[in-house]
Amino acid sequence: MFTWSRGTNRPISKYFTSKEFTCKCGICRDQIIDEVLVSKLNEVRELYGAPITVTSGFRCARHQAHLRGTLPPGQTAAGRSSHEDGIAADIAGEDMAKLYSICFSIFDNLGKARSFVHVDTRPKKPDGTKRLWNY
Ligand SMILES: [Zn+2]
Ligand SMILES: [Zn+2]
Repeated sequence: MFTWSRGTNRPISKYFTSKEFTCKCGICRDQIIDEVLVSKLNEVRELYGAPITVTSGFRCARHQAHLRGTLPPGQTAAGRSSHEDGIAADIAGEDMAKLYSICFSIFDNLGKARSFVHVDTRPKKPDGTKRLWNY
């Protein structure tokens, strides 16, 4: 795990710095992000060949609870988010179809939204298949 404190910024791979993964709550101090996740994102960035924005990286429990509370009525996010464990990122780029297909070749867990792709480094499902879902 890479660890840092809010307000500090350091390179954690060729293309990404710690600040890009800092929790968006604006308050919490201690930040973590999985090294395997960052290394895979680096591969994605290399293949994509253009800038990628991390729209969500690490989330503290408070921020995750806040996001749950802002979900549209009828939609529930059950269970703990992989963002809270520092093993997930939501990323965006200009060509979302291209970005998704590159992510698909590198990650086993992908959530597809119109404006971002969620990727995380949880192990594959027990039956050996990828976790794929839409928002
Ligand atoms: Zn936070
Ligand atoms: Zn996500």
